[in-house]
Amino acid sequence: MAKLTIKDIELKGQRVLVRVDYNVPMEEKDGGMVINDDTRIRATLPTLDYLVEKGAKILLAAHLGRPRGQREASLSLRPVAQQLSDLLGRPVAFVDDCVGDKVDQTAAALKPGDILLLENVRFYAEEEANDPAFAARLAANADVYVNDAFGAAHRAHASTAGVAKVISERGGACAAGLLMERELQFLGDELEAPQRPFVVILGGAKVSDKIAVIDRLLDKADSLLIGGAMAYTFKLAKGLKVGKSLVEPDKVDVAREAMEKAARLGVELLLPSDNTVVTPVVTDKLNKKGKPILAFENPRHNTEPDIPDNEEGVDIGEHTASAYGEKIAQAKTILWNGPMGIFEDPRFAHGTFAVAKAVAHATSQGGAKSIIGGGDSVKALNQSGLGDQVTFMSTGGGASLEFLEGKELPGVAALGDR
Ligand code: AMP
Repeated sequence: MAKLTIKDIELKGQRVLVRVDYNVPMEEKDGGMVINDDTRIRATLPTLDYLVEKGAKILLAAHLGRPRGQREASLSLRPVAQQLSDLLGRPVAFVDDCVGDKVDQTAAALKPGDILLLENVRFYAEEEANDPAFAARLAANADVYVNDAFGAAHRAHASTAGVAKVISERGGACAAGLLMERELQFLGDELEAPQRPFVVILGGAKVSDKIAVIDRLLDKADSLLIGGAMAYTFKLAKGLKVGKSLVEPDKVDVAREAMEKAARLGVELLLPSDNTVVTPVVTDKLNKKGKPILAFENPRHNTEPDIPDNEEGVDIGEHTASAYGEKIAQAKTILWNGPMGIFEDPRFAHGTFAVAKAVAHATSQGGAKSIIGGGDSVKALNQSGLGDQVTFMSTGGGASLEFLEGKELPGVAALGDR
């Protein structure tokens, strides 16, 4: 059902609590915290500009990292207030708490168009517990609730669900921001009745993370192109050897069922026909978890269906990349989630970047609608400078996957219907 958006509701002079996703990567520099990537802050600008223009009094609530209910200086949102102010070209006030007297006083002084960013809501354990009393305190200074934090909408927390309940019980509107509206439109409405051919590209580490998405998309897609480590579980299900590749032997049945379903429904399910393989060698260096780091030696092109016992598949091969590219070129709707290989290592990024290029080309030249389901595929597109050549890149990771599975997200369910 279509959700209320900020375009549907009265905003003038209203005190609007906006849940935003400012969970941005930061690092310590010269004793302070600096923001490495402000994409998530930029993504909220259309909503904030709109609210300012309509004369709302704006309170922003967000989380940063995992402070687990404790104050942690390195996870303060203060640097975000400055960055947001620079991007908006107007002052953004900041209070070092998200509830309480200081917040109440600053909120009471807000004039139409003013913006106040509250401190990290996860400094309170009550946030993740969705504590009703805490939600009521968060809602104390708001007439209206807006959720623009799609990336946090799969969590039923006080600032994503509890606060909406308090405000709607009071008769206040609860609406989607413009970013949330776009996420629901592209990951939801556009994929309900996609223009055909509808080509789905899935990669990444694990079948288990994406099986519910695979199952649901098999009902809609014309072609499903599989890459990443996920492909090896499918290969194992076909009785092929996968050597030392990352694989989930306990998910072989699940992969087999997906292939059977694809055959039954006439969906083309493609697996890589060639791979880049390496010989993993244990080094004397340890990772953060104390496990030995592997060095990937002797990269080579493997065109055999089997991968030898002492080798590991780390990327799709060039024949697969061009076969997938041809499918993508014919598509009218494309959904892509997950890299084709260990693209963090430039030696094994070819398959992922080839797919990124094919998707961008199908969009700009072929008129396809391309929807990127968040996470590493977005990173790969941005790294290759093609981010602006696709139709939509989701800002959600886990939230995008759950939404694509067809699950109702608590932060979406909490919003009013049109
Ligand atoms: P996901 O979060 O499930 O989309 O997985 C992304 C991760 O999958 C990235 O960090 C990739 O390095 C990893 N990945 C992709 N292909 C492979 C592969 N063949 N072997 C191991 N890891 C892979």
